[in-house]
Amino acid sequence: MAKRDYYEVLGITRSASQDEIKKAYRKVAMQYHPDRNSGDKDAEEKFKEAAEAYEVLSDPDKRAQYDRFGHAGLGGNGGFGGGGMRMEDIFSNFGDIFGEDIFGSFFGGGGGRGGRRGQGVKGSNLRVKMRLTYAEIAHGVNKKIKVKKHVRCSHCDGLGAKDKNAFQTCSTCGGSGQVRKVTQTFLGQMQTVTTCPTCNGEGSIITSRCSHCKGEGRVYGEETVSVDIPAGVQEGMQLSMHGKGNAGERGGSPGDLIIFIEEESHPELQREGLNVIYDLHISFPDAAFGTQVEVPTIDGKAKVKIPAGTQSGKIFRLKGKGFPVVNRYEKGDQLIHVNVWTPQELTPEEKDLLEKLKTADNFQPRPEKTDKSFFERVKDMFN
Ligand SMILES: [Zn+2]
Ligand SMILES: [Zn+2]
Repeated sequence: MAKRDYYEVLGITRSASQDEIKKAYRKVAMQYHPDRNSGDKDAEEKFKEAAEAYEVLSDPDKRAQYDRFGHAGLGGNGGFGGGGMRMEDIFSNFGDIFGEDIFGSFFGGGGGRGGRRGQGVKGSNLRVKMRLTYAEIAHGVNKKIKVKKHVRCSHCDGLGAKDKNAFQTCSTCGGSGQVRKVTQTFLGQMQTVTTCPTCNGEGSIITSRCSHCKGEGRVYGEETVSVDIPAGVQEGMQLSMHGKGNAGERGGSPGDLIIFIEEESHPELQREGLNVIYDLHISFPDAAFGTQVEVPTIDGKAKVKIPAGTQSGKIFRLKGKGFPVVNRYEKGDQLIHVNVWTPQELTPEEKDLLEKLKTADNFQPRPEKTDKSFFERVKDMFN
């Protein structure tokens, strides 16, 4: 099964602060804590998943790796053995993470869900791929994309109720969103606080649902999102658009839209880091006499002078015609790699001409020390 996005697991945005990450983990850990979900395998998995997400996102180095390369950046299975984290390790970390009041909070010591009331359920994140041409990457581009997703119900403004009077305070919990329960544990009798099962912790219930969204506060639809891609992005980069993911249920905050950048290959140019490589083929007479050629660049055509006596394998550089870097002035170059074309078929007349040239003095190869091999010159260019 594919691993879920760590930010999604904790229900936070990609720009969440360390404090927000900690709070989010605390919330999820409390929700799926085994003491509150006895024997529920699904809750246990979610509990472990949250611990793993926290383990990575709370460590700035691991988080940076994860942001750039996803789960793959953490090596194999996210850096954790087949079964994820061990329960004992998760519990032993709690003290360090939450301080000593952890049990007080878990077992009826006030705390509670406070601001959660009436806030609905957060929407999930959405992922889309975006293919960009070399020109779009070089200059940056604004794209309007149609995203199919859950959108806020316009009939009820996301509340899920027929009108604003269609709410009633929950009679099970009296509007607090929590119910207290006395349970037996190995430590004796304990009072636990759990989410009210009647109102799902919202404190109120809808007496008459919005008929358009059936009370969910959102409907499946489509939204056109305007995406500004900065110049200099690269294949594999991710851009996160806060709040542009799925709408939440009953007024919950929306998830994020995460855009994965893909590069469309160019028929004639090839990217090599920030540089662009172009293979130019010229005839032997053009190489001997010199010529002027038009070459493709990221920005259209450019004229290049090929001097007389140009050897095959020579590299010419068009400074600054490569790719930029996001938010920097730095730019790569275009490297033009010259290939002198050797004829593959010859007519009898052509054969005669070449026979005459074969023994001519100027046609004997005399490489100089400065005529390095192609690979040595490419190496020099990058150093
Ligand atoms: Zn209730
Ligand atoms: Zn509605």
